[in-house]
Amino acid sequence: MHKSTRPLHRLLRVVFAGCVALYAAVSILMLGSPNGPTGTGPVAYVIFVLVLQVAVIVWLLVGPLPDRKWQVVAFLVFGDVGLASVILLDVPTSALIGTFLFAMTGSMCTFFLGPKLLVAHLVFANLVILYIGAAAYVQGLWGPWDAIAAVLVASGATSGVPIFAQIAWSLVSEDARQSEVDPLTRAKNRRGLQNAIEDLWAVAHGKQLAFALVLVDIDRFKAVNDRYGHDQGDAVIVLVAERLCSHVGTSGVVARTGGEEFVAVLVGETEQLCALALEVSETLTHRSDPIPVTVSAGAVVLPPGSAAWKSGLKVVNAATRAADSHMYRAKSSGGNRTMLETM
Ligand code: GH3
Ligand code: MG
Ligand code: MG
Repeated sequence: MHKSTRPLHRLLRVVFAGCVALYAAVSILMLGSPNGPTGTGPVAYVIFVLVLQVAVIVWLLVGPLPDRKWQVVAFLVFGDVGLASVILLDVPTSALIGTFLFAMTGSMCTFFLGPKLLVAHLVFANLVILYIGAAAYVQGLWGPWDAIAAVLVASGATSGVPIFAQIAWSLVSEDARQSEVDPLTRAKNRRGLQNAIEDLWAVAHGKQLAFALVLVDIDRFKAVNDRYGHDQGDAVIVLVAERLCSHVGTSGVVARTGGEEFVAVLVGETEQLCALALEVSETLTHRSDPIPVTVSAGAVVLPPGSAAWKSGLKVVNAATRAADSHMYRAKSSGGNRTMLETM
């Protein structure tokens, strides 16, 4: 489930359950309608879907919320296919009104799954609408103009709402992403770092992997600015950030936490993280660079299951303080080195 929705869990439960309750209400009303399903098979099918809908409502109110993508996909496929299969049992003129509920699953696609699956949903919903419009025409319930108009109205309403929502959501999401990025280096900023720490800590915990923090500070950087100017100083900061990002690769994230200071947060095997941290000074700076600099790093590695883990996410604050003091130890020992502690 999207990170930004975490504080909304209770509200989302009610909204999700309310949506399914609407679908269930349609199933009940269809069973009572003289135009609804007739014959044992169709009636039994609608009752079967209704039972599933009630079970899903109960699950949404008291069970765990879907937090994996496939669970949300399954939920929405159930919503789309369940709705289509039930309303198609009704007369086409009523069924077309039922298709307006596709706007609801469409909006959920927007919020939880993104544009690709929204397109899949829209294709499905519009095919169902088209089929119902054609059926109404073939059965003589509507003339061609009425059928086309009805299909266009249903299609516009069910597609327009989620499409506009998708555009707005994409803009807001991009703003949110940018608010976590340092504009000079494109590494994360402090805010992005905080979120990344929470995510990576959860990954380390879930997969029983080591967690590490590496603080990096460029040595005697003021002298670079004084000698080469602020713009050249910026270029050095960008280069160091790029090298740190590629050094860390997929093992974690990098943030710029101060002028010439960076933090790398890593998850992986203990030995791999220790090696990564110890290689920082030689990887980030080269003597042959146009403006040669050196860096000092302080690293703390928390192997899985170590005593420090028991204090939960709070240990990250302690580890940050420890890494900071190791970084200053590295500096006072002459710089251009990493001091590492395994907690
Ligand atoms: P040390 O070896 O102890 O780390 O010394 P230092 O000079 O690297 O560290 P200090 O913290 O004293 O100075 C950091 C300097 O970085 C001071 C500031 O002018 C410069 N700085 C901060 N942000 C930027 C920036 O965005 N661009 C440039 N070019 N310089 C910056
Ligand atoms: Mg410095
Ligand atoms: Mg500094």
